[in-house]
Amino acid sequence: METMDKQVVVLTTDCTCTDEDGGYTPDCYGCYDDEKGNLDYLLKDWAKANEFDADKHVVCIKGRAMTWLRRDGYAVVDYESMLDALTIRGDYTLTFTLEGASLKVVRTSHDEPTGAYFEVTKVERPVED
Ligand SMILES: [Zn+2]
Repeated sequence: METMDKQVVVLTTDCTCTDEDGGYTPDCYGCYDDEKGNLDYLLKDWAKANEFDADKHVVCIKGRAMTWLRRDGYAVVDYESMLDALTIRGDYTLTFTLEGASLKVVRTSHDEPTGAYFEVTKVERPVED
């Protein structure tokens, strides 16, 4: 039996840098980029768990309760554009949860105080000619 590993990465535009005492520092030391590095690992594990092949597959991001209109929708993007598809202008917090092969994302922002929910799946790359 395979164990269901759970990984969580929180990417936020709020600075989360702390000093030795655990207090927030007045200056940012690059916490966003650090977290982005952790996210890279999480997304690579997702790709591995889903046998994602960039030549054959693209990423489908299904969202609900997006923006202040609480819209549903989806986007089909390349693996490298996943984060761009999930970020918005302004401040936000993105929580990525990878459980086994399933990746879910919750985004909270000014217009989405109760959160927008995303499910990330692999789909066949559309045929180009
Ligand atoms: Zn920081």
